[in-house]
Amino acid sequence: MSTVNEVEKTEAAAEASAAPVMNCAVQKAIKTWADFQVDKMCGKCHPCMMGSFEVLNILGRLEGGASSDADIRRLEIITAEMLLGSRCKKGKDVAQTLDEILKKNRDELVEHFEKGRCVHLECKPLIRYEIDADKCTMCGECLLACKFAAIAGQKRSLYASGYMPFRIRQARCTKCDACREICPEGAVTIISGGARN
Ligand code: SF4
Ligand code: SF4
Ligand code: SF4
Repeated sequence: MSTVNEVEKTEAAAEASAAPVMNCAVQKAIKTWADFQVDKMCGKCHPCMMGSFEVLNILGRLEGGASSDADIRRLEIITAEMLLGSRCKKGKDVAQTLDEILKKNRDELVEHFEKGRCVHLECKPLIRYEIDADKCTMCGECLLACKFAAIAGQKRSLYASGYMPFRIRQARCTKCDACREICPEGAVTIISGGARN
């Protein structure tokens, strides 16, 4: 019989394997900061306390392509101050991780606001889902999978013609990825450019 620890480890491993692989530097920074903020802010150190809200805002702007060099500079200042002024290991560790992300991926971060592009297609405001009509067989699987009624189209049936082709209604799409996961033809694609309503 499995012990509680073994069960917890198995569940954690299953969760980890189910988690999407993250390649985008902005998404890595957001995840790093979100993990840090899971615990209540203790407020003992000035840089961490004052910088937390600012970091969240900056990362949000980066994700949406509405950031600037000044924002990156602000992040650098906050992480440098946290590295110096944090009393706990967690505060220093998160600052160290953010600092490394900034140093190693500057070009990629800048591309988000200069070109409005997430090279890894992971920042939702900068991508959109589309259906490739050449690959779509009109099976209707995506229609059933979408919880947001964001797909329009008619399932193909034998001996009938004049179908409405499958397409994504961008205004409704939450970019949840369910349609892409279920499509047997690989006809749902993610492209750069944000939603076109
Ligand atoms: S760095 Fe650590 S000790 Fe300081 S405010 Fe943040 S969480 Fe608290
Ligand atoms: S699941 Fe794929 S092949 Fe089927 S209708 Fe949707 S896009 Fe087309
Ligand atoms: S990404 Fe999600 S919300 Fe958007 S069309 Fe596909 S299933 Fe619907």
